[in-house]
Amino acid sequence: MEFQDSLDFAKQLDQQDPLAAFRSRFYFPNFHTENPVYLTGNSLGLQPKTAAKYLQEELDDWAKFGVEGHFLSRRPWFSYHENLTAMAAKIVGALPIEVVITHSLTTNLHLLMVSFYRPEGKRVKILCEEKAFPSDQYALASQVSFHGLPHDALVEVGPRDGEQLIREEDILAKIQELGDELALVMIGGVNYYTGQYFDLEKITKAGHAVGAVVGFDLAHAAGNVNLQLHDWNVDFAAWCGYKYLNSSPGGVSGMFVHERHANNKSLPRFAGWWGHNKEVRFQMEPGFDPIPGAEGWQLSNAPVLGMAAHLASLEIFEEAGMDRIGQKRNQLTAYLEYLIHLVSERNKEKCEFEVITPRSPKQRGAQLSIMAKGQGRQLFDKLTALGVIADWREPNVIRIAPAPLYNSYEDCFRFAQFLEQALH
Ligand SMILES: *Cc1c(COP(=O)(O)O)cnc(C)c1O
Repeated sequence: MEFQDSLDFAKQLDQQDPLAAFRSRFYFPNFHTENPVYLTGNSLGLQPKTAAKYLQEELDDWAKFGVEGHFLSRRPWFSYHENLTAMAAKIVGALPIEVVITHSLTTNLHLLMVSFYRPEGKRVKILCEEKAFPSDQYALASQVSFHGLPHDALVEVGPRDGEQLIREEDILAKIQELGDELALVMIGGVNYYTGQYFDLEKITKAGHAVGAVVGFDLAHAAGNVNLQLHDWNVDFAAWCGYKYLNSSPGGVSGMFVHERHANNKSLPRFAGWWGHNKEVRFQMEPGFDPIPGAEGWQLSNAPVLGMAAHLASLEIFEEAGMDRIGQKRNQLTAYLEYLIHLVSERNKEKCEFEVITPRSPKQRGAQLSIMAKGQGRQLFDKLTALGVIADWREPNVIRIAPAPLYNSYEDCFRFAQFLEQALH
């Protein structure tokens, strides 16, 4: 589509947008300006207006039933997480047996690595991306040392000198090179810093070809890019609920374990009673018998309040559908990129900045990372003062993400106007 740099054009796109009505289902923060441009759904998604209702229902049932709410409430807490499974599975392209919503993200990464990182003989290495999200770096390094291995069992693949993005060919070459020393590939599906979306299917194939297990952290991918975890044969994955999935600060996380591992009771795991055979859970007997599928990785009974918020959001995703979300994501992001490019062209002498996110819609989701080469942090602070809610990442990147469920083309237009103002 030919874009135009005008408010009228942006409004016209909003009028034609089949998802436009979803914007009114969310609360927009108005703490520092009346009408902010919220572009931080990749960090914390906005609150669905229905979240309060779902939370209140659980509070009411808790008041009314006390402990009996586990079985008597309108959505019995005993099986509360089951309300979320099918909808979450669709978002990541999985079968219901492959998904469970439970715990938080870093916890889930550890639990999954306990099962799927099993260094043996010379096959001890983990391949991850350079400058992975800090929590992932700590988790990976601590897994390596937990097994009594030296730190160099963790191998990073990064951008080439002078480049910002990691070349896919370099990831694949590294997998080849490590060969039978490679135990696990564990990469962020969408890099949090650059917004680069890797070809997860190719990476999975390459990892499996050398005999490694392949898992992904999908914190920046779930609810953002279109995923087919089952078909791509990914071994395991985890994601958080509070970024693109709008399910409350620190909210519940999702886990994926491929169907082919569903009945493998010999996998080592850290077990808890909620992962134990449901039929006999309350007989409280010794001898752990894991539930087949991802549910067998649960430790604890469901944090129902967090899950209520997640339920509210998943229903919105269900209604909108990932296909439509993906179509809007591509066009909205491309429009924002186009406008930023024009601002940069018009203001070459004032400030240098560059969008470092890949240009191809196949290699990115909704996020654009703007590297501020001149004014840096100052530019970000000015944008904030003008009413843009974006996100600053050291040393010099402004991250913005137009979330297709609630951002508009007009938001993109206003952002570009503010960017131009901030330069002056
Ligand atoms: C957001 C994010 C996290 C955060 O982990 P929590 O356990 O939810 O605090 C971890 N890893 C990545 C890649 C992230 O983007």
